[in-house]
Amino acid sequence: MQPELISRITTLSHQMTERRERFLADLIRIRSYTGQEGPAVERTLAELRAIGCDEVWTDSAGNALGRIGHGPRIILYDAHLDTNEVADERAWPHPPLEPVVEGDAMFGLGASDCKGGVAAIVYGAAVIREIIRNGAMAGGSHPPLRLDDFSVVVMGATLEEDAEGFALRSLVERDGLRPEVVLLAEATDLTLRRGQRGRCEVRVRVEGRAAHASQPHLGENAILKMLPVIAALEAMNAGLPVDPIFGRGNQVVTMIEGPHTPNSVPAWCEVTLDRRLVPGETPEGVLAGIRAVVEPLGATAAIPDQPVLTHTGLRLDGPAFYPGWLLAEEHPLLAAGQDTCRALWGRPAAMDVWRFSTDGTYSAGAAGIPTLGFGPQEEQYVHAANDQVSLTKLRTAAAWYALFPFVYATLTPLPPSPCQGEGELSRFPQR
Ligand SMILES: [Zn+2]
Repeated sequence: MQPELISRITTLSHQMTERRERFLADLIRIRSYTGQEGPAVERTLAELRAIGCDEVWTDSAGNALGRIGHGPRIILYDAHLDTNEVADERAWPHPPLEPVVEGDAMFGLGASDCKGGVAAIVYGAAVIREIIRNGAMAGGSHPPLRLDDFSVVVMGATLEEDAEGFALRSLVERDGLRPEVVLLAEATDLTLRRGQRGRCEVRVRVEGRAAHASQPHLGENAILKMLPVIAALEAMNAGLPVDPIFGRGNQVVTMIEGPHTPNSVPAWCEVTLDRRLVPGETPEGVLAGIRAVVEPLGATAAIPDQPVLTHTGLRLDGPAFYPGWLLAEEHPLLAAGQDTCRALWGRPAAMDVWRFSTDGTYSAGAAGIPTLGFGPQEEQYVHAANDQVSLTKLRTAAAWYALFPFVYATLTPLPPSPCQGEGELSRFPQR
């Protein structure tokens, strides 16, 4: 990469510090629980206009979107605007919705998950905007910095905390945006993440027969019938698929329900199973394995629908199945990520996979769109009362997002092949 480009990016990222941090502080002030992202989306749209995006819009799921450039090859930057809910405000060092800067860190709800990421990608785009504008004005004194074939689309995403991937699915399948690659600005502490385990929810149910509790022999107790089923589900752990990168999948019974009638023999009992998946597992495969174990014990198993309502009033309910994914080590997207790190810092970044689930479950796991994670936030502060992001790392990440498209454009004159998606676009039609 041209040293001149690197130094312009670094300088611009420094110059935009005040605007970038004011934007992050504003986002922290806005409460944006899942499904209630409207005001945070509006604030993000205003910032996308202010940095000079060529187009600013919202899609049907109410994601905030801004585009720089007019090329057909779309690089999508995704960071979500919704936050986890505060459990106990008294445990927080500062009020959650009050952005407080102490030393190098800005504290506040969502700073690390994922509003720091939103500020990083929006201000990465802001730097790109300036470079393209000034590059055009400089007119031929150096090889042109052009992204003619490309558009960079910045997405302030919704719904991630409760239903990761659903809002991105809607953008791709309902509204027709087809990114060539997706970058996720979730917490990576300036390192790269190239995959995640998946997860799914399974409901396992047994039927009994109700009777008055004073004469239990007249009924069939569904809770007692469930006992061996729970034991069998737990015993399955030893035989779940193993992946060389992610280790073994696991499953745990997390909830149990029955009729709320203390003086009756329960007529039904249902448990919820949280299953963690390795890449390659499918809904059919997961269900077949569980049914083989529980059906002989008289139980049924199903993957329930996750209820999802966007802040725009659209229902996006769909199966609670979130596939895992892994970007191949030799994929050009990963090479571009590493080259961006080398160009900025003179060395490659550490590379790992995420423990938690992200919008990549759709982009890479379901749709096979090559996906890579990079963000300034640190995992230790995610969903924690000392939620914070380093402002120096935020500036560094913005510079990374500014440089990335130029590196990617150089490395991939032609679009690379899709990654190994574990499902297909059509596996879960939207309703
Ligand atoms: Zn997140």
